[in-house]
Amino acid sequence: MFNKIKLKSEADIELIKESSLLVGKTLAEVAKAIMPGVPLLYLDKIAEEFIRDHKAVPSFKGYGGFPASLCLSVNDVVVHGIPNNTLLKDGDIISVDCGVYKNGFHGDYAYTFAVGEISEENKLLIKRTKESLYLGIEAAQAGKTTGDIGFAVQRYVEHFGYGVVRELCGHGIGKAMHEKPDIPNYGLPRKGDLLREGMVFCIEPMITQGTRKIYMEKDNWTIRTQDGKPAAHFEHQVALTKNGTEVLSTYEFVEEVLGNNII
Ligand code: MG
Ligand code: MG
Repeated sequence: MFNKIKLKSEADIELIKESSLLVGKTLAEVAKAIMPGVPLLYLDKIAEEFIRDHKAVPSFKGYGGFPASLCLSVNDVVVHGIPNNTLLKDGDIISVDCGVYKNGFHGDYAYTFAVGEISEENKLLIKRTKESLYLGIEAAQAGKTTGDIGFAVQRYVEHFGYGVVRELCGHGIGKAMHEKPDIPNYGLPRKGDLLREGMVFCIEPMITQGTRKIYMEKDNWTIRTQDGKPAAHFEHQVALTKNGTEVLSTYEFVEEVLGNNII
């Protein structure tokens, strides 16, 4: 059967890495501004200006009609929150998802931040969601499958009683922001698509503190948990190369800003 997965050359991967680096630096600029009292639209403005100043284009703006450069998802918003005039408040958690298009390739990844002082419960949700992403990355090897990745994420977070959102998943990435294959955050070992050298994709666990059930708001974007409990979201971009799995994205710049406040 015709396989629609687009494999990338080493040169392609270098370009994707460059786009990815700009995402990392943009997230760090946004991280500097995350504090109680800041409107979401201000964070979006920082990101858009920073991306355009670096001769790139925000991938999300205009994608399927999405009106902004960042997806900003606060508390019970899982993903795809539209930046508006809402002010961040002490105790919120916010997923910042950013995409850039540069040199013909997309970078796309996300980080969940604490706003001011957050609850112990929410710290754990953030910490474990990030850990689940790294477990997913460990499972992402040529010769394994997308099911191996999903299984690694799911097994870990469900152990804490968290929910894994099923309706949305990670994805291949390259000249298009969303390519094949889908990378679900749940699954069974050895099931799903075979992972091969040359594949580049995003792994992005969306983990809920309560029910995994979600709904979409009338704006046709904002995804919320049905029970109103918070969700966290982390995303990295990986490439399967002849030297093994390479993480193209980096939290280095973001975590430099966070300093002692890394969760
Ligand atoms: Mg993505
Ligand atoms: Mg993303």
